[in-house]
Amino acid sequence: MFLIPAAAPLILETTRFSIGICDLPHNHRPNRCDSGSGGLPDRSGMDSIPSRRMKTTESPTLPAELSPILAASLLGGTPLAWLPAPEVPAPYQQLLVHDHDMTSELAGFHQDSISLAILQSRQTENTYFREVTLHAATSGTPVEYGLIEILLDSFPAAIRPLILAGDTPLGTILTSSGLEFRSEPQGFFTIPADVLHPVFPQSPTGAKLFGRYNHLIHEDGSCLARILEILPLTSANHQSLFPMKNYDAIIIGGGPAGSTCAALLAEKGHRVLLLEKDRFPRYHVGESLMPFCWFTLERLGVVDRMADIGYTKKHSVQFATQDGRISAPFYFFEHLDHPAATTWQVERAEFDLMLLDNARSKGVEVRENTTALDFLKEDGRIIGIRARTEDGEPFEVTAPITLDCTGRDALFQRKNGWRKRDPKLNKIAIWTLYQDAMRDPGLDEGATTIAYLDGRGWFWNIPLRNGIVSSGIVAERDYLYRDSRDPAEIYAREIENNAWIKEHLSQGRQFGEYWVTGEYSYRSEHCATDGLVLVGDAFAFLDPVFSSGVFLALKSGEMAADATHAALLSGDISANTFADYGEDLCGIIEVMRQLVYAFYDENFSFGKLIRAHPHLRAKLTDCLIGNIQGQDFTDLSEALKEFADIPAPLEHGRIPSRLQADEFSITPCANAATP
Ligand SMILES: Cc1cc2nc3c(=O)[nH]c(=O)nc-3n(C[C@H](O)[C@H](O)[C@H](O)COP(=O)(O)OP(=O)(O)OC[C@H]3O[C@@H](n4cnc5c(N)ncnc54)[C@H](O)[C@@H]3O)c2cc1C
Repeated sequence: MFLIPAAAPLILETTRFSIGICDLPHNHRPNRCDSGSGGLPDRSGMDSIPSRRMKTTESPTLPAELSPILAASLLGGTPLAWLPAPEVPAPYQQLLVHDHDMTSELAGFHQDSISLAILQSRQTENTYFREVTLHAATSGTPVEYGLIEILLDSFPAAIRPLILAGDTPLGTILTSSGLEFRSEPQGFFTIPADVLHPVFPQSPTGAKLFGRYNHLIHEDGSCLARILEILPLTSANHQSLFPMKNYDAIIIGGGPAGSTCAALLAEKGHRVLLLEKDRFPRYHVGESLMPFCWFTLERLGVVDRMADIGYTKKHSVQFATQDGRISAPFYFFEHLDHPAATTWQVERAEFDLMLLDNARSKGVEVRENTTALDFLKEDGRIIGIRARTEDGEPFEVTAPITLDCTGRDALFQRKNGWRKRDPKLNKIAIWTLYQDAMRDPGLDEGATTIAYLDGRGWFWNIPLRNGIVSSGIVAERDYLYRDSRDPAEIYAREIENNAWIKEHLSQGRQFGEYWVTGEYSYRSEHCATDGLVLVGDAFAFLDPVFSSGVFLALKSGEMAADATHAALLSGDISANTFADYGEDLCGIIEVMRQLVYAFYDENFSFGKLIRAHPHLRAKLTDCLIGNIQGQDFTDLSEALKEFADIPAPLEHGRIPSRLQADEFSITPCANAATP
């Protein structure tokens, strides 16, 4: 591993050397930068550059001389994706597409002098190779990564020791010496930022870095150096990428998904507008959290606040048969030795307000009572939205990226026919609240109970604070509406069908509304289009039997924020940027979806599964707590198939392969303005 020197800035050498071409050795025969290369060996990854790019872009061959240091460098065999100079976005256009010395360009851009740190070097007779980083001298911030082959015998003898001393950037030495030289960029490229994470740790996962392959040429035409120069992303840069937009990101919807995206993007320095059609606090169903919500809440900085509020602690989930027998609870702490093992039953009005306030405190501009109506489109991409203020005034607002977090309203999905229902999970739910219903003792007081209804559905029982219980039924429409459409009557009837529920609710008093919802599980045709990404329930909704909704909203909010941050920094906000987002999110949802299918299969029971495959208890618990991302659940999936009809993964939900212009309907953009 290379040692990256501490950012002890070097004070730059300002002495001017006056050595001209006349000082070069008498028998000097100029090197040519493009001589004797024979091309880069296979491990450079050049072969993997897509042919689409090869045809349309300049794609120079790196010289063989660079290959030893390239192979041993952080870049290793990373492919360079070449792109034509005009496609290099600002501010990298300014920084890379020019024929001057890079060091002075960086000094001007960062308003600082530039220092050098050598990661590794090696010298042959006339050639000095090195892998370096350049830093803004005052702050120590890395401003360039470079791989350089310096042809020593092209330099006057007096300069060579300065170069070999390794204290000062080559560009600074050359400029100070008065040697006439120029840059001849051979090509421009991108590489994944992850490759250079050791030197640019601030780069978000999935971002692209821009660089150039450059020749430094003496005025006599001789080659001084061949250099790969790669620039970091900086949070300041993105604003100049999209100077004409009102905001960097517009978020529609202030539920858990929207607040999470907004807070995390604002934290990264983006200008974020969040529109919410309601005034918070407002009632929302979905009170029972999964343990792995903890990690997003921790990242948002609200875990202590959760503890202060004093929500009901949830240590487990348990299952009750129709005749009232209760399963051994799945205690999360038996599986997870972490504070996350204790999760919460939350009143969503208060929980969602806390998250929205958290986003506000991080600089998000939140407008409540403001409804997004439609999307604005320009040149095939979403560039903002049309909305209505609380006074009913229409207005338009623009941003390079819009995040649809509108929950089950799913604005973009509905407007564009992207909603695809999960046919077998076509249930309806009726729910209400009870005061002073019976609670289980001790640790089980805050447990979520899932109580079965004759293979047709289930009750949830979620104990909240102040003696309140959230109670709901989920079942097929025909079953629930078989003799009445009155939710109160249906409720009274079904309570009689589960002994555990009857015992617990009969001691309490129902109050407030009965709510009903249909259109159960669905997933969007795609997760993104150019300039827009779908998050939380606005992307997909899964039957809530395992309380996965808020977890998926928080998790997808976090994933979308990271992907959006990377997209904003790289300047590429096309749907392609969200390919991994869609893939990863669908992967997580599929694991939960298989379990939901199993739950509804009359041949399945958790008891049967665990008795047949005791070693899968841990995997099953991982699913129930939300520890899904990055894990392989193939064995659990195979075991589930022994007892239940498990569906194949859905194919939709990823980015579109190719959007047709008329594939989605958008309002043409008028004058964008903030009211
Ligand atoms: C019956 C039922 C029971 C459930 N039980 C649970 C449970 O126990 N545990 C659990 O984790 N999950 C549960 N869920 C799921 C959970 O409620 C959701 O998954 C979760 O709220 C999704 O969060 P979100 O931020 O994506 O959407 P939401 O929380 O719905 O937030 C979306 C926000 O967008 C706003 N909005 C909508 N349209 C617009 C617009 N045009 N302009 C501006 N704002 C707009 C809305 O007002 C809303 O505030 C349940 C769901 C249902 C239906």
